[in-house]
Order: sequence, then C-alpha cells, then structure tokens
Amino acid sequence: MPKKLEGSCRCGAVHFSVESHAPYPFQLCYCSICRKTAGGGGFAINLHADNKSLKVQAASLSACSRPDRRRGRALHTSSGQRNFCRKCGTALWLYDPQWPALMHPFASAIDTRLPVPPGKVHLMLKFKASWVKPDFGRATPNSGSIPNCRSRNGTANAGYGSSRRR
Ligand SMILES: [Zn+2]
Ligand SMILES: [Zn+2]
Repeated sequence: MPKKLEGSCRCGAVHFSVESHAPYPFQLCYCSICRKTAGGGGFAINLHADNKSLKVQAASLSACSRPDRRRGRALHTSSGQRNFCRKCGTALWLYDPQWPALMHPFASAIDTRLPVPPGKVHLMLKFKASWVKPDFGRATPNSGSIPNCRSRNGTANAGYGSSRRR
C-alpha cells in the first residue's frame, strides 16, 4: 500500500503530492550537484516515489537538467532533472529519465511525517566534499535494508552509484 506524500517549497508557490512504496528518507547523495543545490550538510537526502502519481500545483516551478559550465573546468553532466521553486529556490525533487517510473522528492521538501529509515544508502561518495564524514552507523552502503527500494526499479542504486554525476 503506497503512502501519499505531500510536499511544498518554503514560500508556498509550489505544492505537490506523490505516492511512495518506500517513504523512507534513505538515500544520501554526496555529489556536488546535490551538495550545492540541496545539501547544506554535505549531502542531499531523497526518497523514491512513483512518478505517474505526481500531482503538482505550481505558480513558479523550474527545472534544471544541466549544470552551468565553469570556466576552465570540464563538467560531467547529469541526466537528472532537478526541480525547484523559481521564487524561493527550494529544491523539490529529482527526476531522471533513465528511470522514468520514479521521481525522488528531497526529504527536506516533504511535509508529511516520514518514518525514520531503518538503514541508509550512501551515494556518490567519491564526489563528497573533504569536510564531510559520512555516518554509516551499523548499516553498510547499499545495504538493501529498505523495503522495495531496489525491487521498484531493480537497478536504481547501482546506476546512481555510477560516476555520471559529480
Ligand atoms: Zn517557493
Ligand atoms: Zn547527487
């Protein structure tokens, strides 16, 4: 039975709802895109939800799918599309067309009370900032202890652990 999640931005211009079969804030992504757009603690936390159930009420939604070029540095690009409020800048969710059945709301944008995750998945660790010390607790990376987090799409965790993003 999926759980309905309600989310919004800080200024209230964007509200959304989506159904999730694994409503745990369990995915910690340390890539530089997540860190800069939604990861004040050195990582962003997102969860899995069913993209086809997404309903959006938005006065000012924007999506960014490519990082800006930085002078003198080649950048890897991400196929992920990051959605944020154009007015207040709140990071809302990530959508990656490689896994079209899923969308990944940032836990920080969800207003519904979420359960404490029984385990966490640490992604893109090779891109983490030097000052970040991941807290693995007793769980191991990709421990698979979250119900349905792999079975919903089979390859999501393996794919997200690749080096396509930075
Ligand atoms: Zn807003
Ligand atoms: Zn990331």
